[in-house]
Amino acid sequence: MAWSCTGSTNVELIANMAKHGLIRSERVQAAMKKVNRAHYVRNPHEAYEDSPQPIGHGATISAPHMHAYAVEYLLPFLRPGSRVLDVGSGSGYLSAVLHYLATDLDSGVTGTVVGIDHIPELVDWSKSNLKRDGLGAALDSGHIKMIAGDGRQGFAEAGPYDAIHVGAAAPTMPQPLVDQLARPGRMFIPVGQDKQAIIQVDKDADGNVTQKELFGVMYVPLTDQDKQRAMGF
Ligand code: SAH
Repeated sequence: MAWSCTGSTNVELIANMAKHGLIRSERVQAAMKKVNRAHYVRNPHEAYEDSPQPIGHGATISAPHMHAYAVEYLLPFLRPGSRVLDVGSGSGYLSAVLHYLATDLDSGVTGTVVGIDHIPELVDWSKSNLKRDGLGAALDSGHIKMIAGDGRQGFAEAGPYDAIHVGAAAPTMPQPLVDQLARPGRMFIPVGQDKQAIIQVDKDADGNVTQKELFGVMYVPLTDQDKQRAMGF
């Protein structure tokens, strides 16, 4: 089903995902339409295919339907003013979508999206992608921050976070990320090695943490820089 969402333009790709029920919310649809995937891929001719694409350094930009799922599950925690952490930010695509949900310039309510990736070349590339996509001002004002670092440790100085997205599969649940969730807050994270699944981690207002397995997936690993560079794509 997902592959049939491929479009000939960005707007068509997003509209197809909405038609097939992969995007259910108007807010998600509007935010995704503002982010032109062609600015975040290596091969713009395949930008509107609903498939992952290698972006170098052992990383891939996730398929659009995976990004849509992630945002739909995090949506109750994404509103103007939210603080959001995007671990394994890669191309910067999802950080851009999250920005449009966390910052509403019309009403003047601004949030913060922190993207963190351990490959400095990808962090630099993601910043140029965001600028090409019209988000230079959001970077300058700090509404979007793209950081080079080990995402397994999170980024405590800008937390706690209402929502955390993790774009690479952790072998086990990274406790620093759970600790950096706000009360309340929600994390969407792939966990596992040979067999991976998305885990939704919820922290309630009293700080109680619960985990729910959502569905099986196949992500690149949340790992050490050396191991990733050795993967060779
Ligand atoms: N969500 C991004 C990238 C997905 S690929 C996109 O769609 O463009 C997974 C990303 O996780 C890669 O960019 C990889 O460099 C990053 N990554 C893997 N292990 C990491 C770690 N320990 N810390 C930070 N980033 C990591």
